[in-house]
Amino acid sequence: MSDGAEPLRDVIARHGLQATKALGQNFILDRQLLARIAAIPGPLDGKTVYEVGPGPGGLTRALLDTGARVVAVERDRRCLPALAELEQEAKGRLRTISGDALDIDERAEIGDGAPIVANLPYNVGTALLLRWLGGSWPPWWSSLTLMFQREVAERIVAKPGGEHYGRLAIAAQWRAVPKIAMLVHRSSFVPPPKVASAVIHLVPAPQPEGVDPAVIERLTAAAFGQRRKMLRSSLKAMPGALEELEPLGIDPERRAETLSIDDYVALARALS
Ligand code: SAM
Repeated sequence: MSDGAEPLRDVIARHGLQATKALGQNFILDRQLLARIAAIPGPLDGKTVYEVGPGPGGLTRALLDTGARVVAVERDRRCLPALAELEQEAKGRLRTISGDALDIDERAEIGDGAPIVANLPYNVGTALLLRWLGGSWPPWWSSLTLMFQREVAERIVAKPGGEHYGRLAIAAQWRAVPKIAMLVHRSSFVPPPKVASAVIHLVPAPQPEGVDPAVIERLTAAAFGQRRKMLRSSLKAMPGALEELEPLGIDPERRAETLSIDDYVALARALS
């Protein structure tokens, strides 16, 4: 449906949608790039996709072009007239919800099994990711395809031992598999953000047995709350944890960033 469609730059000008920094607005106008992002989750024809922050609708159009149905939630009411036009063109395949993605009851609005695809506002990106990674498992969504600042993307996929490895890596990797699917240069956005971006693609994996998600969350909060300290000091904040280290073959003199995801899973299982 993008063939012959009005250029996004004109849609933005016609509706007076100058980007607002407070809403994390950096728009992508390049249709080829948008099509490449929409292709990351795999074939979407006939599926319902959940998009957060459609803005003037560039990524939304690319998703509709794949044959998907799209449910999109946008907080900036200025974008609604442009999205209403797109709804008309999409003939029933686009539904826009006016509101804050942090507030909506996603499962009730979208149903189970939807891929989530979003060029996220940076100021709510991590909060939304942690919400999607938390809660019951398997999750209601089937995959996440999300734009982040590159540095945040590197923290999501980080392996043990490096400076990027921490709570976000463990939250993303203990029951899911994330990868960096694409790097995106600052110049691809209007206006360009200060830093480079990357698109993460993440699919759920089976949840390890016997692990309470709240326990692994508290454990990593304690361990990385003082990441320069040895575990025997940082884990004092987690009742019972110190006693479990030696039976699991984990030296209490190690620091949080040297433990593998499997180590955290084993420790959380012992404490669950
Ligand atoms: N998807 C468009 C694109 O790729 O060009 C716009 C991306 S822009 C980085 C982020 C969009 O998210 C903006 O349209 C902004 O208004 C919207 N937004 C910001 N906070 C939001 C929230 N809490 N809930 C829903 N949308 C939000």
